[in-house]
Amino acid sequence: MYQALRGTYDLLPDEAERLRSFLNRAISILERAGFREIETPIIEEARLFDRSVGEGSDIVSKEMYTFPDRKNRLLALRPEGTAPIVRACIEHNIYYANPSVRLYYFGPMFRYNRPQKGRYRQFLQLGVEIFGSEAAYTDAECLYLLSEILKEAGTGSFCVELNSLGCRTCQDNYGKTLAEFLEKRKEELCEDCRNRLQKNPLRTLDCKTLICKEILQDSPAIKNSICIPCEEKFKEVLRYCDMLGVKYRINDKLVRGLDYYTQTVFEVIAEDGGNAIAAGGRYDKLVEDMGGRPTPAIGFAFGLERCLFNSVRAVEPKKKGIRLVYLDKPGETRALEKAFKLMVALRRQIETPVTLSSKEGKKIGNQLAMADKDNCRFALIFGPEEIEKGEVILRDLDSGTQESLKETDLTERVKKC
Ligand code: AMP
Repeated sequence: MYQALRGTYDLLPDEAERLRSFLNRAISILERAGFREIETPIIEEARLFDRSVGEGSDIVSKEMYTFPDRKNRLLALRPEGTAPIVRACIEHNIYYANPSVRLYYFGPMFRYNRPQKGRYRQFLQLGVEIFGSEAAYTDAECLYLLSEILKEAGTGSFCVELNSLGCRTCQDNYGKTLAEFLEKRKEELCEDCRNRLQKNPLRTLDCKTLICKEILQDSPAIKNSICIPCEEKFKEVLRYCDMLGVKYRINDKLVRGLDYYTQTVFEVIAEDGGNAIAAGGRYDKLVEDMGGRPTPAIGFAFGLERCLFNSVRAVEPKKKGIRLVYLDKPGETRALEKAFKLMVALRRQIETPVTLSSKEGKKIGNQLAMADKDNCRFALIFGPEEIEKGEVILRDLDSGTQESLKETDLTERVKKC
Protein backbone atom coordinates (compact mmCIF):
# COMPACT_ATOMS: atom_id res chain seq x y z
CA MET A 1 0.00 0.00 0.00
CA TYR A 2 1.27 3.45 -0.91
CA GLN A 3 0.83 6.35 1.51
CA ALA A 4 1.22 10.11 1.29
CA LEU A 5 4.68 11.24 2.41
CA ARG A 6 5.18 12.17 6.07
CA GLY A 7 4.18 15.78 6.64
CA THR A 8 1.98 15.89 3.53
CA TYR A 9 -1.75 15.23 3.26
CA ASP A 10 -4.52 14.76 0.73
CA LEU A 11 -7.07 17.53 0.56
CA LEU A 12 -10.30 15.56 0.24
CA PRO A 13 -13.40 16.98 -1.52
CA ASP A 14 -15.22 18.31 1.60
CA GLU A 15 -12.07 20.15 2.71
CA ALA A 16 -11.28 21.28 -0.83
CA GLU A 17 -14.78 22.78 -1.00
CA ARG A 18 -14.31 24.65 2.30
CA LEU A 19 -10.94 25.89 1.11
CA ARG A 20 -12.32 27.10 -2.24
CA SER A 21 -15.23 28.86 -0.58
CA PHE A 22 -12.91 30.59 1.94
CA LEU A 23 -10.49 31.59 -0.82
CA ASN A 24 -13.30 33.16 -2.84
CA ARG A 25 -14.36 35.29 0.14
CA ALA A 26 -10.80 36.21 1.08
CA ILE A 27 -9.91 37.15 -2.50
CA SER A 28 -13.03 39.27 -2.75
CA ILE A 29 -11.88 41.25 0.35
CA LEU A 30 -8.41 41.65 -1.18
CA GLU A 31 -9.59 42.64 -4.65
CA ARG A 32 -11.84 45.31 -3.16
CA ALA A 33 -8.67 46.68 -1.53
CA GLY A 34 -6.87 46.87 -4.88
CA PHE A 35 -4.87 43.60 -4.79
CA ARG A 36 -4.16 41.56 -7.93
CA GLU A 37 -3.04 37.96 -8.20
CA ILE A 38 0.50 36.80 -8.91
CA GLU A 39 1.73 33.23 -9.24
CA THR A 40 5.40 32.30 -9.18
CA PRO A 41 7.00 28.87 -9.75
CA ILE A 42 7.27 26.35 -6.94
CA ILE A 43 10.99 25.84 -7.68
CA GLU A 44 13.57 28.61 -7.57
CA GLU A 45 17.33 28.89 -7.32
CA ALA A 46 18.27 28.02 -3.73
CA ARG A 47 20.47 31.10 -3.35
CA LEU A 48 17.38 33.33 -3.71
CA PHE A 49 16.34 32.27 -0.21
CA ASP A 50 19.87 32.27 1.25
CA ARG A 51 20.14 35.96 0.54
CA SER A 52 16.63 37.05 1.49
CA VAL A 53 15.25 34.80 4.23
CA GLY A 54 18.82 34.49 5.50
CA GLU A 55 21.42 31.72 5.67
CA GLY A 56 21.29 31.79 9.46
CA SER A 57 17.51 31.27 9.63
CA ASP A 58 16.07 27.85 10.50
CA ILE A 59 14.01 27.94 7.32
CA VAL A 60 17.12 28.09 5.12
CA SER A 61 19.68 26.27 7.23
CA LYS A 62 17.53 23.36 8.40
CA GLU A 63 14.20 23.22 6.64
CA MET A 64 14.68 23.98 2.96
CA TYR A 65 14.18 21.22 0.39
CA THR A 66 17.18 21.69 -1.92
CA PHE A 67 18.41 19.49 -4.75
CA PRO A 68 20.77 19.78 -7.71
CA ASP A 69 19.09 19.68 -11.14
CA ARG A 70 20.57 17.76 -14.10
CA LYS A 71 23.00 20.60 -14.75
CA ASN A 72 24.04 20.66 -11.10
CA ARG A 73 22.33 23.97 -10.30
CA LEU A 74 21.14 24.03 -6.71
CA LEU A 75 17.36 24.46 -6.66
CA ALA A 76 14.89 24.77 -3.81
CA LEU A 77 11.21 24.05 -3.33
CA ARG A 78 10.04 27.46 -2.16
CA PRO A 79 9.75 27.64 1.63
CA GLU A 80 7.86 30.96 1.51
CA GLY A 81 6.30 33.37 -0.98
CA THR A 82 7.85 36.80 -0.43
CA ALA A 83 11.34 36.29 -1.88
CA PRO A 84 10.02 34.78 -5.18
CA ILE A 85 7.57 37.67 -5.55
CA VAL A 86 10.27 40.26 -5.02
CA ARG A 87 12.39 38.36 -7.57
CA ALA A 88 9.49 38.42 -10.06
CA CYS A 89 8.77 42.11 -9.49
CA ILE A 90 12.40 43.04 -10.11
CA GLU A 91 12.68 40.69 -13.11
CA HIS A 92 9.55 42.10 -14.77
CA ASN A 93 10.13 45.67 -13.69
CA ILE A 94 6.76 45.72 -12.01
CA TYR A 95 7.55 48.61 -9.65
CA TYR A 96 8.44 50.76 -12.61
CA ALA A 97 5.05 50.27 -14.25
CA ASN A 98 3.13 50.47 -10.98
CA PRO A 99 4.99 51.96 -8.03
CA SER A 100 2.31 51.09 -5.44
CA VAL A 101 1.58 47.55 -6.50
CA ARG A 102 -0.54 45.28 -4.30
CA LEU A 103 -0.29 41.54 -4.91
CA TYR A 104 -1.74 38.37 -3.47
CA TYR A 105 -0.73 34.76 -4.01
CA PHE A 106 -1.92 31.33 -3.03
CA GLY A 107 -0.11 28.01 -3.22
CA PRO A 108 1.97 25.32 -1.56
CA MET A 109 5.16 26.01 0.41
CA PHE A 110 7.67 23.38 1.56
CA ARG A 111 9.64 23.12 4.80
CA TYR A 112 11.38 20.02 6.04
CA ASN A 113 10.44 20.28 9.70
CA ARG A 114 9.18 17.78 12.25
CA PRO A 115 5.53 17.19 11.40
CA GLN A 116 2.96 17.62 14.16
CA LYS A 117 -0.59 18.93 14.47
CA GLY A 118 -0.82 22.00 12.23
CA ARG A 119 2.76 21.67 11.03
CA TYR A 120 3.32 20.11 7.62
CA ARG A 121 6.17 19.70 5.18
CA GLN A 122 3.92 20.85 2.34
CA PHE A 123 1.39 23.46 3.41
CA LEU A 124 -0.76 26.12 1.76
CA GLN A 125 -0.34 29.83 2.17
CA LEU A 126 -2.46 32.75 1.08
CA GLY A 127 -0.24 35.79 1.19
CA VAL A 128 -0.26 39.47 0.30
CA GLU A 129 2.48 41.98 -0.40
CA ILE A 130 2.17 45.77 -0.64
CA PHE A 131 5.03 47.60 -2.31
CA GLY A 132 5.77 51.31 -2.43
CA SER A 133 4.35 52.65 0.85
CA GLU A 134 6.26 53.22 4.05
CA ALA A 135 3.33 54.95 5.73
CA ALA A 136 2.24 53.74 9.15
CA TYR A 137 -1.38 53.61 7.97
CA THR A 138 -0.38 50.94 5.42
CA ASP A 139 0.75 48.69 8.29
CA ALA A 140 -2.58 49.28 10.00
CA GLU A 141 -4.49 48.62 6.77
CA CYS A 142 -2.58 45.34 6.42
CA LEU A 143 -3.52 44.29 9.93
CA TYR A 144 -7.11 45.28 9.32
CA LEU A 145 -7.29 43.16 6.14
CA LEU A 146 -5.68 40.25 7.96
CA SER A 147 -8.30 40.43 10.72
CA GLU A 148 -11.18 40.75 8.22
CA ILE A 149 -10.00 37.69 6.30
CA LEU A 150 -9.58 35.68 9.50
CA LYS A 151 -13.17 36.48 10.47
CA GLU A 152 -14.25 34.97 7.12
CA ALA A 153 -12.27 31.81 7.93
CA GLY A 154 -14.35 31.30 11.09
CA THR A 155 -11.14 30.62 13.01
CA GLY A 156 -12.74 31.56 16.31
CA SER A 157 -11.21 34.29 18.46
CA PHE A 158 -7.66 35.25 17.69
CA CYS A 159 -5.14 37.83 18.78
CA VAL A 160 -2.72 39.85 16.69
CA GLU A 161 0.65 40.12 18.43
CA LEU A 162 2.71 43.10 17.35
CA ASN A 163 6.24 44.33 17.75
CA SER A 164 8.74 46.64 16.07
CA LEU A 165 12.20 45.38 15.14
CA GLY A 166 13.33 48.88 14.21
CA CYS A 167 15.46 49.72 11.20
CA ARG A 168 18.73 47.99 10.28
CA THR A 169 20.69 50.33 12.58
CA CYS A 170 18.39 49.50 15.52
CA GLN A 171 18.80 45.81 14.72
CA ASP A 172 22.59 46.08 14.61
CA ASN A 173 22.59 47.86 17.98
CA TYR A 174 20.26 45.30 19.45
CA GLY A 175 22.38 42.47 18.01
CA LYS A 176 25.37 43.85 19.92
CA THR A 177 23.40 44.23 23.17
CA LEU A 178 22.02 40.72 22.84
CA ALA A 179 25.44 39.26 22.03
CA GLU A 180 26.93 40.95 25.11
CA PHE A 181 24.16 39.48 27.25
CA LEU A 182 24.58 35.98 25.81
CA GLU A 183 28.36 36.04 25.87
CA LYS A 184 28.19 35.78 29.68
CA ARG A 185 26.34 32.47 29.43
CA LYS A 186 27.92 31.26 26.21
CA GLU A 187 28.99 27.91 27.65
CA GLU A 188 25.36 27.01 28.46
CA LEU A 189 24.02 27.78 24.96
CA CYS A 190 23.39 25.05 22.37
CA GLU A 191 25.96 24.67 19.60
CA ASP A 192 23.69 26.38 17.04
CA CYS A 193 23.27 29.41 19.27
CA ARG A 194 26.99 29.68 19.90
CA ASN A 195 27.40 29.92 16.12
CA ARG A 196 24.51 32.36 15.83
CA LEU A 197 26.15 34.52 18.45
CA GLN A 198 29.01 35.16 16.01
CA LYS A 199 27.05 35.48 12.76
CA ASN A 200 23.56 36.77 13.61
CA PRO A 201 22.72 37.06 17.32
CA LEU A 202 19.04 37.90 16.62
CA ARG A 203 18.45 34.38 15.33
CA THR A 204 19.16 32.97 18.81
CA LEU A 205 15.67 34.24 19.66
CA ASP A 206 14.15 31.53 17.38
CA CYS A 207 15.90 28.72 19.28
CA LYS A 208 13.61 25.93 20.46
CA THR A 209 16.14 24.38 22.89
CA LEU A 210 14.84 24.56 26.47
CA ILE A 211 18.01 25.91 28.05
CA CYS A 212 18.44 28.64 25.38
CA LYS A 213 14.78 29.61 25.72
CA GLU A 214 15.23 29.89 29.46
CA ILE A 215 18.36 32.04 29.14
CA LEU A 216 16.67 34.26 26.55
CA GLN A 217 13.69 34.92 28.81
CA ASP A 218 15.85 37.40 30.71
CA SER A 219 17.42 38.92 27.57
CA PRO A 220 17.10 42.68 26.99
CA ALA A 221 14.02 43.63 24.92
CA ILE A 222 14.52 45.04 21.45
CA LYS A 223 12.42 48.11 22.30
CA ASN A 224 15.32 49.48 24.35
CA SER A 225 17.52 49.54 21.24
CA ILE A 226 15.03 51.25 18.94
CA CYS A 227 15.79 54.75 17.61
CA ILE A 228 13.35 57.61 18.10
CA PRO A 229 12.00 57.72 14.49
CA CYS A 230 11.30 53.95 14.61
CA GLU A 231 9.64 54.33 18.01
CA GLU A 232 7.47 57.17 16.70
CA LYS A 233 6.54 55.14 13.64
CA PHE A 234 5.45 52.20 15.79
CA LYS A 235 3.27 54.49 17.92
CA GLU A 236 1.68 55.78 14.74
CA VAL A 237 1.00 52.22 13.53
CA LEU A 238 -0.79 51.53 16.82
CA ARG A 239 -2.78 54.74 16.53
CA TYR A 240 -4.04 53.80 13.05
CA CYS A 241 -4.82 50.26 14.27
CA ASP A 242 -6.96 51.77 17.04
CA MET A 243 -8.68 53.96 14.47
CA LEU A 244 -9.71 50.88 12.45
CA GLY A 245 -10.64 48.87 15.54
CA VAL A 246 -7.89 46.30 14.97
CA LYS A 247 -7.36 44.38 18.21
CA TYR A 248 -3.70 43.70 19.04
CA ARG A 249 -1.37 42.87 21.90
CA ILE A 250 2.22 44.09 21.99
CA ASN A 251 4.71 41.26 22.38
CA ASP A 252 8.18 42.73 22.75
CA LYS A 253 9.79 39.31 22.38
CA LEU A 254 8.35 38.74 18.90
CA VAL A 255 11.14 38.75 16.27
CA ARG A 256 9.97 36.33 13.49
CA GLY A 257 12.40 33.79 12.07
CA LEU A 258 13.24 35.52 8.77
CA ASP A 259 16.09 37.99 8.31
CA TYR A 260 14.39 40.44 5.98
CA TYR A 261 11.98 42.07 8.43
CA THR A 262 12.38 45.67 9.60
CA GLN A 263 10.11 47.71 11.91
CA THR A 264 6.58 46.28 12.26
CA VAL A 265 6.28 42.51 12.66
CA PHE A 266 3.20 40.55 13.69
CA GLU A 267 1.84 37.11 14.30
CA VAL A 268 -1.73 35.94 14.79
CA ILE A 269 -2.38 33.38 17.50
CA ALA A 270 -5.70 31.63 18.10
CA GLU A 271 -6.99 32.42 21.59
CA ASP A 272 -7.30 28.71 22.33
CA GLY A 273 -3.52 28.37 21.87
CA GLY A 274 -1.44 26.52 19.33
CA ASN A 275 0.70 27.63 16.43
CA ALA A 276 0.55 30.99 14.69
CA ILE A 277 -2.18 31.05 12.04
CA ALA A 278 -0.79 34.01 10.13
CA ALA A 279 2.26 36.20 10.27
CA GLY A 280 4.09 38.94 8.49
CA GLY A 281 5.77 42.29 8.69
CA ARG A 282 7.54 45.13 6.97
CA TYR A 283 10.61 44.48 4.81
CA ASP A 284 11.73 47.88 3.58
CA LYS A 285 15.24 46.82 2.56
CA LEU A 286 14.58 43.51 0.81
CA VAL A 287 13.88 44.81 -2.70
CA GLU A 288 17.07 46.85 -2.62
CA ASP A 289 19.09 43.96 -1.12
CA MET A 290 17.91 41.74 -3.97
CA GLY A 291 19.03 44.17 -6.64
CA GLY A 292 15.89 46.27 -7.17
CA ARG A 293 15.53 49.96 -6.56
CA PRO A 294 14.78 51.00 -2.97
CA THR A 295 11.11 50.11 -2.37
CA PRO A 296 9.42 49.89 1.02
CA ALA A 297 7.16 46.88 1.43
CA ILE A 298 4.99 44.98 3.86
CA GLY A 299 3.22 41.63 3.66
CA PHE A 300 1.74 38.70 5.49
CA ALA A 301 0.75 35.09 4.92
CA PHE A 302 -1.92 32.81 6.33
CA GLY A 303 -1.29 29.14 6.91
CA LEU A 304 -4.50 27.82 5.38
CA GLU A 305 -4.49 24.47 7.17
CA ARG A 306 -4.24 26.28 10.49
CA CYS A 307 -6.96 28.79 9.55
CA LEU A 308 -9.43 26.32 8.17
CA PHE A 309 -8.86 22.81 9.38
CA ASN A 310 -8.00 23.44 13.02
CA SER A 311 -10.95 25.76 13.35
CA VAL A 312 -13.87 25.27 15.66
CA ARG A 313 -16.47 25.72 12.97
CA ALA A 314 -16.02 22.56 10.90
CA VAL A 315 -19.40 22.68 9.13
CA GLU A 316 -21.16 19.65 7.71
CA PRO A 317 -21.14 19.79 3.91
CA LYS A 318 -24.53 20.88 2.56
CA LYS A 319 -26.56 18.54 0.39
CA LYS A 320 -26.65 19.77 -3.16
CA GLY A 321 -27.18 18.69 -6.73
CA ILE A 322 -29.62 16.68 -8.77
CA ARG A 323 -29.21 12.97 -9.51
CA LEU A 324 -30.90 11.53 -12.61
CA VAL A 325 -32.19 8.07 -11.80
CA TYR A 326 -33.61 5.79 -14.48
CA LEU A 327 -34.99 2.31 -15.00
CA ASP A 328 -35.62 0.73 -18.42
CA LYS A 329 -37.64 -2.33 -19.36
CA PRO A 330 -35.27 -5.22 -20.12
CA GLY A 331 -33.55 -4.74 -23.50
CA GLU A 332 -34.61 -1.07 -23.77
CA THR A 333 -32.54 2.11 -23.30
CA ARG A 334 -35.26 4.79 -23.65
CA ALA A 335 -35.11 6.01 -20.05
CA LEU A 336 -31.31 6.06 -20.08
CA GLU A 337 -31.23 8.07 -23.32
CA LYS A 338 -33.75 10.62 -22.00
CA ALA A 339 -31.85 11.03 -18.77
CA PHE A 340 -28.51 11.20 -20.57
CA LYS A 341 -29.68 13.98 -22.91
CA LEU A 342 -31.32 15.87 -20.08
CA MET A 343 -28.09 15.69 -18.07
CA VAL A 344 -26.14 17.78 -20.60
CA ALA A 345 -29.11 20.10 -21.30
CA LEU A 346 -29.53 20.90 -17.59
CA ARG A 347 -25.81 21.42 -17.07
CA ARG A 348 -26.01 24.17 -19.67
CA GLN A 349 -28.97 25.85 -17.99
CA ILE A 350 -28.49 25.59 -14.23
CA GLU A 351 -25.53 25.92 -11.88
CA THR A 352 -26.45 23.08 -9.52
CA PRO A 353 -24.41 19.91 -10.18
CA VAL A 354 -26.32 17.36 -12.30
CA THR A 355 -25.18 13.73 -12.27
CA LEU A 356 -26.45 10.51 -13.80
CA SER A 357 -26.94 7.38 -11.72
CA SER A 358 -24.20 4.82 -12.23
CA LYS A 359 -26.31 2.01 -10.77
CA GLU A 360 -27.50 0.82 -14.15
CA GLY A 361 -30.29 -1.75 -13.93
CA LYS A 362 -30.59 -1.46 -10.14
CA LYS A 363 -34.00 -0.82 -8.55
CA ILE A 364 -35.07 2.84 -8.29
CA GLY A 365 -35.00 2.62 -4.45
CA ASN A 366 -31.44 1.40 -4.55
CA GLN A 367 -30.41 4.22 -6.89
CA LEU A 368 -32.13 6.80 -4.63
CA ALA A 369 -30.29 5.50 -1.57
CA MET A 370 -27.02 5.90 -3.46
CA ALA A 371 -27.94 9.49 -4.47
CA ASP A 372 -28.67 10.28 -0.81
CA LYS A 373 -25.30 8.84 0.25
CA ASP A 374 -23.59 10.97 -2.40
CA ASN A 375 -25.14 14.05 -0.74
CA CYS A 376 -27.53 14.89 -3.61
CA ARG A 377 -30.46 17.10 -2.63
CA PHE A 378 -32.91 16.08 -5.39
CA ALA A 379 -33.51 13.17 -7.73
CA LEU A 380 -35.24 13.16 -11.10
CA ILE A 381 -36.75 9.74 -11.71
CA PHE A 382 -37.28 8.25 -15.17
CA GLY A 383 -39.18 4.95 -14.67
CA PRO A 384 -40.88 2.92 -17.44
CA GLU A 385 -44.32 4.32 -16.51
CA GLU A 386 -43.13 7.92 -16.51
CA ILE A 387 -41.51 7.42 -19.93
CA GLU A 388 -44.85 6.19 -21.33
CA LYS A 389 -46.65 9.26 -19.93
CA GLY A 390 -43.95 11.77 -20.94
CA GLU A 391 -43.44 12.61 -17.26
CA VAL A 392 -40.62 12.74 -14.74
CA ILE A 393 -40.76 12.54 -10.93
CA LEU A 394 -38.91 15.16 -8.93
CA ARG A 395 -38.04 13.85 -5.47
CA ASP A 396 -36.73 15.89 -2.57
CA LEU A 397 -34.23 13.54 -0.95
CA ASP A 398 -34.28 15.46 2.33
CA SER A 399 -38.01 15.46 3.00
CA GLY A 400 -38.93 12.43 0.87
CA THR A 401 -41.76 14.39 -0.87
CA GLN A 402 -42.13 14.13 -4.62
CA GLU A 403 -44.12 15.57 -7.52
CA SER A 404 -44.82 14.52 -11.11
CA LEU A 405 -43.73 16.95 -13.78
CA LYS A 406 -44.47 17.13 -17.50
CA GLU A 407 -41.21 16.86 -19.43
CA THR A 408 -41.99 20.24 -21.00
CA ASP A 409 -42.21 21.98 -17.57
CA LEU A 410 -39.14 20.27 -16.20
CA THR A 411 -36.40 22.85 -16.77
CA GLU A 412 -38.38 25.76 -15.33
CA ARG A 413 -39.24 23.76 -12.21
CA VAL A 414 -35.69 22.46 -11.73
CA LYS A 415 -34.29 25.99 -11.95
CA LYS A 416 -36.07 26.67 -8.63
CA CYS A 417 -34.35 23.73 -6.90
P1 AMP B 1 6.04 32.31 7.85
O1 AMP B 1 6.19 32.18 6.35
O2 AMP B 1 7.00 31.49 8.63
O3 AMP B 1 5.96 33.74 8.26
O4 AMP B 1 4.63 31.67 8.20
C1 AMP B 1 3.39 32.26 7.88
C2 AMP B 1 2.30 31.31 8.26
O5 AMP B 1 2.40 30.12 7.50
C3 AMP B 1 2.36 30.82 9.70
O6 AMP B 1 1.75 31.72 10.57
C4 AMP B 1 1.61 29.52 9.62
O7 AMP B 1 0.21 29.76 9.67
C5 AMP B 1 1.96 29.01 8.26
N1 AMP B 1 3.02 27.98 8.35
C6 AMP B 1 4.35 28.16 8.44
N2 AMP B 1 4.99 26.97 8.49
C7 AMP B 1 4.05 26.01 8.44
C8 AMP B 1 4.06 24.58 8.45
N3 AMP B 1 5.18 23.89 8.49
N4 AMP B 1 2.86 23.91 8.37
C9 AMP B 1 1.70 24.60 8.29
N5 AMP B 1 1.62 25.96 8.28
C10 AMP B 1 2.77 26.65 8.35
